[in-house]
Amino acid sequence: KASRQAEKRGWHLYLVGGAVRDLLLADRQKQVLLEDIDLVVDGFHKSADVGAGVELAKALQTIYAGGRLEVHGQFQTAALLWHKNPDLGSLWIDIATARTEFYPYPAANPEVEASSIRQDLYRRDFTINALAMRLTNPRVGELLDFFGGLLDLQSQQIRVLHANSFIEDPTRIYRAVRFAVRLGFEIEPQTESYIRYAIASGIYEQIQGKNGRAPALETRLKSELKYILQAPYWKPALQLLANLEALRCIHPSLELDENLWWQVRLFDRCLQKFDPQKTLEHWQMRLEVLIAYLAPEFRGKVANNLQLSADSIERLQNLDKAETNITKTLSALELKSEIVQLMRQYNLPTLILIAVKTSRPIRQKIWRYLTEWNYIKTPLNGNDLKALGYKPGKQFKEILDTLLTATLDGKIDNRESAEAFIAE
Ligand code: ATP
Repeated sequence: KASRQAEKRGWHLYLVGGAVRDLLLADRQKQVLLEDIDLVVDGFHKSADVGAGVELAKALQTIYAGGRLEVHGQFQTAALLWHKNPDLGSLWIDIATARTEFYPYPAANPEVEASSIRQDLYRRDFTINALAMRLTNPRVGELLDFFGGLLDLQSQQIRVLHANSFIEDPTRIYRAVRFAVRLGFEIEPQTESYIRYAIASGIYEQIQGKNGRAPALETRLKSELKYILQAPYWKPALQLLANLEALRCIHPSLELDENLWWQVRLFDRCLQKFDPQKTLEHWQMRLEVLIAYLAPEFRGKVANNLQLSADSIERLQNLDKAETNITKTLSALELKSEIVQLMRQYNLPTLILIAVKTSRPIRQKIWRYLTEWNYIKTPLNGNDLKALGYKPGKQFKEILDTLLTATLDGKIDNRESAEAFIAE
């Protein structure tokens, strides 16, 4: 229907980007479910060009009821979103207008038509993401492959379109790694050398901005990090990023040495154990371990620049203080109850962040707190106290606290000893 709408207006319509790549990679026997579709409209007539994407999006919104329309940016791209539409399911369609400002001739001329979509594709990241499939007549279904994307799909290569690509947009380094690991492809050697060159030339300074911040780049870096760190393949992706020295885009001093790699994996096991329901943002917690490995004075700034959540920024800012407090205080504590009291000042993410960084004896105490001591119950609970004639209030709470202390320190271990303890 989108094609018919485009044809009616005398436009070309192309499917571009990841959808073409995924369709070409898909097993022919299986149906491919596309949830995210990028389309590009290209006008035959110059007058129809500006805003063609938006006009087409509006037409589709009328045909398929219930779609939400958003219009973005100076080039007027439109995003259409449907949630559980009876015909379309849940679908996100981006419709862009091929930039035609460079093309003074009517696009009916096939050469010019081709060069207009070609320009659009040339702005993209990798050859495998720069393929287009024509959805309108004539030659509907034709694959437009200006940069050898099909060959790279077949030979499983991530190849960049131009030498300056990573300098222009360092987040493409993260995208290269993401696609390479996800698809099981290789980063083509020349492309890898462009990545290494971009990093060696201090690309991270560009991300961090001349005066400390470059919000747009940081936002995209964060979203690429999120993609990678929440994917099932996050471990090999992190290793590949480290191998390319690309973690320096997060902070120039960040390196995945053996110690950090050990911490990252231990931290992940802790997350699986203590947060199996995933109430915490695991991807962000993984990023926190990396940031926590930096010298304390950098942590808050990096978290802040990456626009992590407020609690995450605060945790990283205060981590050093918390770690120092726990380390110093713990060595002077002998009673379990005192240790529990100390640990209760901190939440789970802080404790496991500290546990993976600290010395073995302290880690063991944090571990025992998180697995055992935090769950120790008193032999008498609030209801028991009520039954014994105590009324809820300040004293009631004090009795419960005292009972817990006595239980933790092994002074009471059953009802009788607890009752005797209260009487005393
Ligand atoms: P995925 O399946 O992971 O969503 P995708 O290829 O659809 O993969 P998107 O991030 O949705 O990835 O981007 C859509 C298309 O936009 C890409 O295929 C690529 O052509 C282009 N693109 C996205 N980000 C960039 C970038 N930083 N530089 C150049 N082109 C980009």
